[in-house]
Amino acid sequence: MKPHVGVLALQGDVREHLRALESCGARVSAVRRAAELAEVDGLVLPGGESTTMSRLLEVFDLLEPLRERLAGGMPAYGSCAGMILLASKVLDGRPDQHQLGGLDVIVRRNAFGRQVDSFEADLDIAGIDGGPVHAVFIRAPWVESAEPTVEVLGTVPDSPAAGPAAGRIVAARQGSVLATAFHPELTGDRRLHQLFMEIVREH
Ligand code: GLN
Repeated sequence: MKPHVGVLALQGDVREHLRALESCGARVSAVRRAAELAEVDGLVLPGGESTTMSRLLEVFDLLEPLRERLAGGMPAYGSCAGMILLASKVLDGRPDQHQLGGLDVIVRRNAFGRQVDSFEADLDIAGIDGGPVHAVFIRAPWVESAEPTVEVLGTVPDSPAAGPAAGRIVAARQGSVLATAFHPELTGDRRLHQLFMEIVREH
């Protein structure tokens, strides 16, 4: 049977993730209510704006149900704003922004600098074969620090263009929670979605 994977559909690049997951063999659905969340085997938290999604999680009464499912071990993959939501702590966030937990890291929001809207780099990602992943960063966070329980999957390579981003953690995994500061849903490369599908299938 196909695993049933949801995409949190309050805001952000929902459609791109649904399409990517579908092409990796998932049965997909958009998740906006607790009843929809209860049905999925795993959930993607898309890129977008974490402060907006945080507010909408409250409006849609999803905050506690989502925290409960994450605490119960539901596989989750957060890209960019999704990674911010999953982090246990955020720097440069809004004071009223909620954290879901699941990933024991401190993330810095808009870390690449406000003037740097986007940045691209080829990254080697642990557990992903077939060469580097072309990573697109859009007003992206990075992981400022991670607990030892977190596996670092990728960092920004040292290059003149990387500036202060060089060496920063931008892909990580803790158990069945996966997170990237970049947006694989915006490129044709499905390897990160495939990795998430493996996590969902194993679970
Ligand atoms: N800067 C955004 C935030 O704080 C994230 C940007 C993105 O998801 N592309 O949520």
